[in-house]
Amino acid sequence: MPSSFVKIWETVLDILFPPLCTLCEKTMNRDEREDGICASCISSIPVKTAFTCPKCRARLAENKKVCHKDMPFYLAAALPYGDERVKKLIWKLKYEKHTYAARSLARLMREHLEAVGVSPSDFTFVPIPLHKSRERERGFNQSELIGAFIANAFQLPFERKALIRIKKTSAQAETKNRNERKENMAGAFSARESIVKNKNIFLVDDVYTSGATIEEAVRTLKKAGAKHVVALVAALA
Ligand SMILES: [Zn+2]
Ligand SMILES: [Zn+2]
Repeated sequence: MPSSFVKIWETVLDILFPPLCTLCEKTMNRDEREDGICASCISSIPVKTAFTCPKCRARLAENKKVCHKDMPFYLAAALPYGDERVKKLIWKLKYEKHTYAARSLARLMREHLEAVGVSPSDFTFVPIPLHKSRERERGFNQSELIGAFIANAFQLPFERKALIRIKKTSAQAETKNRNERKENMAGAFSARESIVKNKNIFLVDDVYTSGATIEEAVRTLKKAGAKHVVALVAALA
């Protein structure tokens, strides 16, 4: 199709079905469409300005990155999951396949890193993988989408196959205490040593809940020779 025709057709569609902001349902302008949410909604979402302790959830002061020393990673959690808009964006992405929400989340995660004062240069982005049967069910891996957008924004390497989910675990919500969750996740991942050895890694996920999944992934990456690992998640539950 000639591109002029496509443009006219898009304009007709815009008039008939103007794209609406996922969050406030107002009509969006052209620049906002790629994100799926309008500029005023994006700027109203509170971005966290500090790292979080992965164990006790303490907000860490500027000069402090470690609180509980037994945790082998830093936690950069961009947004509060308790915020209805954040919850809605993640829901739209995971369950309604609104994949553009990944772009908005990635943008907010980047703002978070900037607010904390982290400027990643010597890092590789790795998503938390889904088991392939779950990925088939959903049709995509939300962490992979988010990770690809952030890596692209920073112009840094993205390795979608650095970690592989080798064990199908039961949903974390069904397992109760910390030890049970840890046991449930044990041996869930395998890491490609040829990719991760001596690398600094941003491990990307959508929501940080109990932390058992990320902790297991970090331990797997470290066993394969990864240097520093920062868990970069969209939301802290
Ligand atoms: Zn809006
Ligand atoms: Zn702590």
